[in-house]
Amino acid sequence: MSSGTEIQGGGRALTPQREVVLRVVRESAEHLTAAEIYAAARRIRPSLSYATVYNSLRYLKEAGLVREITFGNGASRYDRETARHDHALCTRCGALLDFDLAETAALMRLAARRSRFKPESIHLTLMGVCPACSAAEQRRTRRKGAR
Ligand code: ZN
Ligand code: MN
Repeated sequence: MSSGTEIQGGGRALTPQREVVLRVVRESAEHLTAAEIYAAARRIRPSLSYATVYNSLRYLKEAGLVREITFGNGASRYDRETARHDHALCTRCGALLDFDLAETAALMRLAARRSRFKPESIHLTLMGVCPACSAAEQRRTRRKGAR
């Protein structure tokens, strides 16, 4: 993307710093942490400071251009997909996958009734073992069995 391309945020053009940070999040299929975004943004614009990247992420989040997701006490991750969706998190390698279930609307109504909360949103996190880690564990088990 050339510097002539303007990305609009909240009806106003973004500052070049914020534009770089948004570009990093949008070009990654991963859910990056602030530290990873900082490293990637520095490759595009070496003068960027961590504070600027961090403040840009906060701005972009408030403008609805990126989504911040947190799991327990782990570092926040940033998501280019701002529409509602669910995640599967690998407890071995930390891989994070997007998925969407049509049933979550019904689940939210049920959860609201049970908790007597007025529902605003629901986010499912499936914790488990990703296919790659699962295959690696199976290979290890098989090797042990062969001894
Ligand atoms: Zn994994
Ligand atoms: Mn996601």
